[in-house]
Amino acid sequence: MAASKSKNQSSLALHKVIMVGSGGVGKSALTLQFMYDEFVEDYEPTKADSYRKKVVLDGEEVQIDILDTAGQEDYAAIRDNYFSATAEFREQILRVKAEEDKIPLLVVGNKSDLEERRQVMVDEARSKAEEWGVQYVETSAKTRANVDKVFFDLMREVRAKKMSENKDRNGKGSKNKKKRSFKERCCLL
Ligand code: GDP
Ligand code: MG
Repeated sequence: MAASKSKNQSSLALHKVIMVGSGGVGKSALTLQFMYDEFVEDYEPTKADSYRKKVVLDGEEVQIDILDTAGQEDYAAIRDNYFSATAEFREQILRVKAEEDKIPLLVVGNKSDLEERRQVMVDEARSKAEEWGVQYVETSAKTRANVDKVFFDLMREVRAKKMSENKDRNGKGSKNKKKRSFKERCCLL
């Protein structure tokens, strides 16, 4: 009975993801679509929350922890320059996590279902992501296009980083660093 119970949650690997980006781009909608397979149109814009879910990542049961952030949004600045907002978020992340060489990060262009209202050209977004050495993926929280992909790809990057850090630690006896993953978004509103 107890012995045949599934693995204790606390023994599962835990991969942390943070949703960062301008207000209204769909951070909450993406999170809720991933978590509950639902498109939520009217999630409270100022509400930040965290979610945890067991998932199977390449055959391994793991937990994902998603922090959906919300902040004061400067809509005018966002409208004027999508990339400067995204770049600022990235810089903040790098500042805070300066001790870490490479933070797993992915740029997401959401609302791909609204192609006729596209604001950021794919090439432009791709070249920016390339400059930052990260993947660029377009998603739709409405149709669920690429929603699993962004979370799973990011978890793979996080797992790879943890593994290489473990190797380093075992090899050189260096100190265990606290690590987190980040997800960065750019808007297609
Ligand atoms: P957040 O401020 O980044 O958390 O943005 P929300 O998740 O609250 O989304 C803002 C608005 O955009 C809401 O009305 C959502 O329903 C809508 N939205 C979010 N993602 C998509 C999407 O992929 N497609 C469409 N058509 N609307 C979306
Ligand atoms: Mg939100």
